[in-house]
Amino acid sequence: MAIGPGLRPQLLLLEAHEGLGASMAPQLASMGYVLRWTPHLPEFLKMQVDLHPQVLLVELERGEVGPSAQDLTALLQTRDEGTPLVLISARNDLSARLQSVRTGCDIYLPYPVNLEVLANRLDAFLDPPPREPERVLVVEDSPVQANYLGGILREAGMEASLLTDPEQALNRLGEFKPDLILMDLYMPQCTGIELAAAIRMDPTYMGIPIVFLSSELERSTQLEALGRGADDFLTKPIRPQHLVSSIRIRAERTRLIRAQMSRDSLTGLRNHSAMKFRLEEEWLRAQRGETPFAFAIVDIDHFKQVNDTYGHPFGDQVLQSLSRLFQRRLRRSDIVGRLGGEEFGILFTGTTLKAAFPIIEGLRADFANLQHLSPKGPTLSTFSAGIVAGNAAFSAPGEIWESADRALYQAKAGGRNRVYVG
Ligand code: GH3
Ligand code: MG
Ligand code: MG
Ligand code: MG
Repeated sequence: MAIGPGLRPQLLLLEAHEGLGASMAPQLASMGYVLRWTPHLPEFLKMQVDLHPQVLLVELERGEVGPSAQDLTALLQTRDEGTPLVLISARNDLSARLQSVRTGCDIYLPYPVNLEVLANRLDAFLDPPPREPERVLVVEDSPVQANYLGGILREAGMEASLLTDPEQALNRLGEFKPDLILMDLYMPQCTGIELAAAIRMDPTYMGIPIVFLSSELERSTQLEALGRGADDFLTKPIRPQHLVSSIRIRAERTRLIRAQMSRDSLTGLRNHSAMKFRLEEEWLRAQRGETPFAFAIVDIDHFKQVNDTYGHPFGDQVLQSLSRLFQRRLRRSDIVGRLGGEEFGILFTGTTLKAAFPIIEGLRADFANLQHLSPKGPTLSTFSAGIVAGNAAFSAPGEIWESADRALYQAKAGGRNRVYVG
């Protein structure tokens, strides 16, 4: 389900005591969620039928009070297929977590409930990013074998690049950027073990999984391969299904680890180096005359003062709110990252400056109106931004960054809470 303006997802909460729902509702509302709640199970079950909420939340216990195991069973039986279940609990130990896994819980939230974390998880649940096909480089000297393997992988929805000449491996790796390499053990030019070792010499490819496929039955050769940088050994003949699932699991893990490395831990946005990399890619594309783009740098105003007045944890909350605003309002083609501290970058791909300016200006106005619940009551915050057209006139991507930065500096000097064009 897409979350757009006017399509506010409804959450239904069974609280263990009166009070939790009332305390959560305002902040959830500011993040675009409508919360309904009740402390009574029968009413909860009825509301579930009447309202068809997109998400169910259950507070497990507060002190000695909370739904019984029977209550939980009743509740789960009436749950619509696929409706995510969030359990809120005072306990954060492994046995409590295991119990909640067994209940079929999708999200487990320990006290104190961090609503930013909840909202980020829910966004991912309700509007999951499209799944990209796994990319597999097949290195196999026999064209017949290579085609056969490629066929199986493509049939399973993956992208396969076939290479029969191992000497081309480094070039192809650079172009195709695979998630995994599936490699024949015996080839005329070199052995797979040698090729794996050569690939691993390049730090860029140190982490890429290499899976060997061979009819080799000798355990010692397999062990040698594993010892020299191979990740797995699949023995021919292999059942297509087994091939696909071994590859899928490994490729998935590579992606998770890669994503982890390129993400900022507080906001889940891309980090500085990931943004720099994407800016370079967009600049290259613009150099080839393919598509226009715009790049903006956003910096929260007087943020040091926010921290000093309301405390660092509240500062973090503001950073998370802004990051959520970006994630909700920007299109999938827009790329947003945290450049550091209270500074963010947005790449509007395939977009002219003329089209991107109203978007960033709208974000500025929305953020300036967004209430943040501080320990001292509701408060407001603003940001300034500099935006530039990322056209071919710039002779290096760094110049685009600098130009946006200068425009940002001018926006600050011009009084803050404004967007300047560089
Ligand atoms: P200006 O309007 O000129 O941008 O002023 P400013 O106060 O926002 O800028 P300054 O660079 O002086 O201060 C940035 C502050 O951001 C200082 C630092 O403590 C705070 N900050 C950086 N990273 C984080 C973070 O992860 N969490 C919190 N809470 N604060 C952070
Ligand atoms: Mg061979
Ligand atoms: Mg600032
Ligand atoms: Mg700053």
